[in-house]
Amino acid sequence: MKYCTKCGTQLDDDAMFCSACGAATGASMPPPVNMPSVQPAGESGIKTIAKVFMLISCIFTGIWLIPLAWMVPMTVVYWNRVKNHQPVGTGFKVCTLIFVNLIAGILMLCDDTPN
Ligand SMILES: [Zn+2]
Repeated sequence: MKYCTKCGTQLDDDAMFCSACGAATGASMPPPVNMPSVQPAGESGIKTIAKVFMLISCIFTGIWLIPLAWMVPMTVVYWNRVKNHQPVGTGFKVCTLIFVNLIAGILMLCDDTPN
């Protein structure tokens, strides 16, 4: 048995609060929880910005690397067509204009001379 430190009421041993006055008995009180120190807002902000920039870089790298998958083969195809004096289709020229290089496509479309 123990007694309330405030009003002296007899309390159960496991009582956390006095039944008469409501004061905390001090027993079985959970120790103050040490909150994990929160990182400074500035550092957190910089990390967030860095992550955003890394994401943007990945996206832009993807945009600029993916075109190489067809730009290089199309350039090689056109190169071989010209070298072997083979006709280049209008569709190929339009595709070059749109997907590879605007000026190169216009030049190819304007080039009516047989290869
Ligand atoms: Zn009390």
